[in-house]
Amino acid sequence: MSRPDVAFLGFMMETVVTQVAEFSTPVLVDDISALPPERRAAITCAVTSAFNGARPELLDLLPNLTHIVSAGAGHDRFDFDDLRARGITLTDTGHLVSSDTAEMAVMLVLAIARDLVRADDHVRSGRWSNAHFGHRTRVAGKTAGIVGLGRIGRLIAERLTGLGVKIVYHTRTPKPDAPWPHESNLEELAARSDFLVAAVPGGAATRGMFDMAVLRALGPRGYFVNVSRGSVVDEEALIAALTEGTIAGAALDVFENEPRPDPRFTQLPNVLLTPHVASITEDYAAELAADISRQVAANLGIV
Ligand code: NDP
Repeated sequence: MSRPDVAFLGFMMETVVTQVAEFSTPVLVDDISALPPERRAAITCAVTSAFNGARPELLDLLPNLTHIVSAGAGHDRFDFDDLRARGITLTDTGHLVSSDTAEMAVMLVLAIARDLVRADDHVRSGRWSNAHFGHRTRVAGKTAGIVGLGRIGRLIAERLTGLGVKIVYHTRTPKPDAPWPHESNLEELAARSDFLVAAVPGGAATRGMFDMAVLRALGPRGYFVNVSRGSVVDEEALIAALTEGTIAGAALDVFENEPRPDPRFTQLPNVLLTPHVASITEDYAAELAADISRQVAANLGIV
């Protein structure tokens, strides 16, 4: 029997493509349209990422697609009504990214509080010999407001608890098995927090939820940390709040416009910026290749 074709709907790491190629023929995104119609019609399984989603014009080329495996956790780049209408099921690898993303959030909390990047620069630049670095903010004993207590938010809460941080969380529905207090009002949560950490999904329901009212409630000694999606923040409000000292600082892994975030962020001394890399570890890359090929193989009935 010939090997089945598997379509890649966007860029994918070489390790994933190689492992999927062990039992199928990967068709990379730029090659899909050139494939003869009968081969395109035979494709039932595709691979994409939370970043690339599933563009309708690509799906139009694959009329018998029934399953998409997406690398990552976010679903904000997928149109579920469209997928349902086409009879396509989506699965992801979200369970693999939670730990790395939570680790990044914890690191950002520590790094923004202790001003890690500028401390490093203080030594490298030679300024240490004629100027003290100055005092920064302790993390232990402070309160973190975790917004979103799913796979990632829970791990952030557990790990910050281990550092002596008190946890309060906000979700639409309280989580009865969570050992931390729930706060139903986001502004109230911000007012109770020294660190406000975003771990909610992107999409219409969360768009701009961190607005000026929330940032004002966080206050001039509060820090905002975002490892979820840029869309959850009103970036105009955030830039104003950072510029005017409405909040103390922010550590951001995600932005409304990636990979070209608003350049005003780079001019601010009180922000720490990372290029959407919360889950990007070598360890994850290896696990991802294994998990995607397992999901694709199961879908093709090659187990
Ligand atoms: P989960 O679906 O496991 O959890 C989401 C949590 O958010 C739930 O507790 C949910 O509770 C809460 N939530 C959803 N909508 C709202 C809302 N409108 N208001 C308040 N709370 C809300 O997601 P994960 O923890 O796996 O992932 C979260 C997000 O992190 C992903 O969707 C992705 O966008 C982002 N991410 C970012 C990465 C990075 O590299 N920076 C890597 C991986 C993920 P409830 O439904 O009760 O409100």
